[in-house]
Amino acid sequence: MEKQDQLLMKKQNKNLVLEIIKNQSPISRMEIAKVTGMSPTSITRIVNELHLQGFVRETELVTSGVGRKAALLDVCGDVLYSVGLEIDKLIINIGIVNYIGEIVAWQTTPRDEREGYEETLKKVRKNIRELIDKNRVPVEKILGIGVGLPGSIDYMNGVVKISEQLKWKNKNLAKDLQQLTGFGVIIDNELKMKIIAENFKGRARDSQNAVLMGIGSGIGAAIILNGEIYRGDSNDAGEIGHTVIDPTGNVCNCGKIGCLASYISEGAIIADSRKVKDIQTIDEVFDACRKRESWAINIMDRTATYIALALSNILCLYNPEMIILSGNTIEKLPEIKGSIKQKCELYVWEPLKARVKIVYSQLGDQGVVLGAAIQAQNSLLELQ
Ligand SMILES: [Zn+2]
Repeated sequence: MEKQDQLLMKKQNKNLVLEIIKNQSPISRMEIAKVTGMSPTSITRIVNELHLQGFVRETELVTSGVGRKAALLDVCGDVLYSVGLEIDKLIINIGIVNYIGEIVAWQTTPRDEREGYEETLKKVRKNIRELIDKNRVPVEKILGIGVGLPGSIDYMNGVVKISEQLKWKNKNLAKDLQQLTGFGVIIDNELKMKIIAENFKGRARDSQNAVLMGIGSGIGAAIILNGEIYRGDSNDAGEIGHTVIDPTGNVCNCGKIGCLASYISEGAIIADSRKVKDIQTIDEVFDACRKRESWAINIMDRTATYIALALSNILCLYNPEMIILSGNTIEKLPEIKGSIKQKCELYVWEPLKARVKIVYSQLGDQGVVLGAAIQAQNSLLELQ
């Protein structure tokens, strides 16, 4: 083997061992050897290096089968940090996340929907600096920034191709934010970031096949197939908001007729509500629903029907072990869960019905930030 190849392989092995400890901790050296197929001697050497670099620590001793005590390994949270950033139409969330996926600092600020690209970026830079200073996070330990945002994102080149919600088109977000902050930056669609968080520590922990559906101001999904994010040809796989449910129906803001989003997005619900009552916000619709006003009940009942139809289509296409529902509509109107469940009984294909789990995200408004930060750690960490 060439020297270069040997070095590369060493590096890959080290990455692999660290990844296994991070995802399967607490774990013993023996188990790592078993999972990787590497020799116990190599594992001991790699673990020693990782220990010296501050990534790994021994947690507890357990009795192994033959009566000897084996030490379990865990990763250290404070060895490094990353910044997770969610930019949405009306809100900017920032979190500083340590190496074991704990949010150590958090900030939420409102965003004006008329705010321009440069303005938002400047605000983000200021807020990130403030958050780092206020919480005394050691800057040299910050690996970089991960950004999750709605829209069609070229994650390889760090370009926002189009975001209807932010009204951004062809923006070099990763490069621009990197220049402003000095940190390495990666970007991706918000739901793809969110499912990474669900897969790391949420409802889909360690799942190989899972789908996350987001229902709020936008409608979309993210898919994990065989343990990997399924992106499709241009990273747009999962854009179910623009699947057509009625070719003679509502006009969608994408220009097509009858897209799912044109019925169940917050904007669409508000627009339909205004045909009956002078409604300004989605909260007023949800309140009316709780007060048993019939127009609001009808609209939200139809929304639940369309959600169930979308779920049944996703199930037939991907056969995931679970679908996680998340987003503003689910969180602000939890009453809709019962109705979705009822309708799934009607619409989900019988052979899939008994197996699939339809569950609800528990990460709340922190999911995108957390996933973005974890993804930044995964992509930007260069082990020596
Ligand atoms: Zn559309």
